[in-house]
Amino acid sequence: MALVPDAVRSLASEKLEVVVQAGAGAEAGFSDEDYRTAGAALEADAKTLMGRADVVLKVQPPTEDEVANLRAGSVLIGFLKPLDLPELARRLASRGVTSFAMELMPRITRAQSMDALSAMSTVAGYRAVLLAAVSLPRLFPMMVTAAGTISPSRVLVIGAGVAGLQAIATARRLGAVVDAYDTRPAVREQVESLGARFVELDLDTGDAEDAGGYARAQSDAFYQKQRLELGKKVGAADVVITTALVPGQRAPLLIDEAAVKRMKPGSVIIDLAAEKGGNCACTEPDREVVAHGVRILGPTNLPADVPSDSSRMYAKVVTAFLKHLAPEGELALDFEDEITRGALLTRDGNIANDAVRALAEGASSSGGAS
Ligand code: NAD
Repeated sequence: MALVPDAVRSLASEKLEVVVQAGAGAEAGFSDEDYRTAGAALEADAKTLMGRADVVLKVQPPTEDEVANLRAGSVLIGFLKPLDLPELARRLASRGVTSFAMELMPRITRAQSMDALSAMSTVAGYRAVLLAAVSLPRLFPMMVTAAGTISPSRVLVIGAGVAGLQAIATARRLGAVVDAYDTRPAVREQVESLGARFVELDLDTGDAEDAGGYARAQSDAFYQKQRLELGKKVGAADVVITTALVPGQRAPLLIDEAAVKRMKPGSVIIDLAAEKGGNCACTEPDREVVAHGVRILGPTNLPADVPSDSSRMYAKVVTAFLKHLAPEGELALDFEDEITRGALLTRDGNIANDAVRALAEGASSSGGAS
C-alpha cells in the first residue's frame, strides 16, 4: 500500500484530502475502517479515483488502462521502473501527467527520508536471509547439544550496499559465519562493524565507486577475473546472497555455473539481482532452480512478502516526498529544487529524465525501423 492509516492522518493534518481504494489495504492488515478513522474517504472504483485525483500515490507502475485514466495535469508518484519501462514514461508524458519515479530520488542526505529504494532494499536483504535459512538443510547457528555439536553455516554476501548490509546483519543475528564482498572498498568498515569478514580479491577496484556512491560498471576482463576469484569463496559457502547492481545496467554476472558446481549439494543461492538479469548464471526470476544440487532462488519482490511493514516504510517515504512537493498542503512544484528535479520523470508532455528519454527515443526509432 502506498499509504497506511498513520500516513493518511499525517497528510490529513496538512489539509490534504485523501481518498483510498476500498479494500486495497486488507492484505497488508489495514482495514477500510482504519483508513476511515484516520480521515480518508474510501472509493470502490479505482478508475474513478484515479480520474479525479490531483495526486495519485502508487507502489507499482500503472497499467496501460490506469495511465489512460489519469487526468492530464495530475501528479503520479510511485515505483515507475523508469530505466526498464521507458515506454511507460512516453505514455505518461503524452497523457500530460507530471510523474515522479521513486527510483530516481537523489541519494543525498537531504533526501534520505524520501529514499524508497533503500527502505525496500532493507526489507529485501532481511527477507533473503530468512528465505535462505528455511531453504537450507542445515542450521545457521553453532549449537552445542547433548546430541552433538553443530557447526555454524557459512554465508557469503556479494554486494554490500543497503540490501547486502541488512543481509549481513540478519545472518549474523541468526548465528551464521558471514563473509562479504563489494567492489567498493569503502564498505569494508561497515561490513566488519557488523561482525562479518571482508573478502579480499586480487582485483583493482580503484575506480569502483562513482561520485554518487554507486558502483561503476567494470570491464568484461574485470568481471571474468572476479568470477574466477569469487568461485573459491562461493564453493566454501552454504548460502550465497547476491545483491550486486550497477545503476542503469544489467546486473554483473558474478557466479558462473562452474562456481555453482563447487558448492555442496543442498547449498542455497538467493539472487536479489534477478530482476536485473541476475548475479548468478543459473538464476531465473521468481522461480526456484536446482542446478548441481544447489537451490537457486531469484525473488524479485520480497517486500511484498512483508506487506504490513513494507507499506509502513513506503508510506512514510512517500508522505515525506509529497510534503516536500506540497509544503503548505498545496502542490508547489519547484523544478529548481534538487530533490523535485531529480525524481521527476515526465512533465509538460516530455520525458524530463535524460537517460530515460534517450532510452525511449532509442526504443521508438528501433521500433520504427523494424
Ligand atoms: P545498489 O543496489 O546499486 O548495489 C548494491 C551493491 O552492489 C553496491 O554496494 C555495489 O557497490 C555492489 N556491486 C556492484 N557491482 C559489484 C560487483 N561486481 N561485485 C560486488 N559488488 C558489486 O546500491 P545501493 O545498495 O542502493 O547503495 C549504493 C550506495 O549508495 C552505498 O554507498 C550507500 O551507502 C549509498 N546510499 C546513500 C544514500 C543517501 O545518502 N541518501 C541512500 C542509500 C544508499
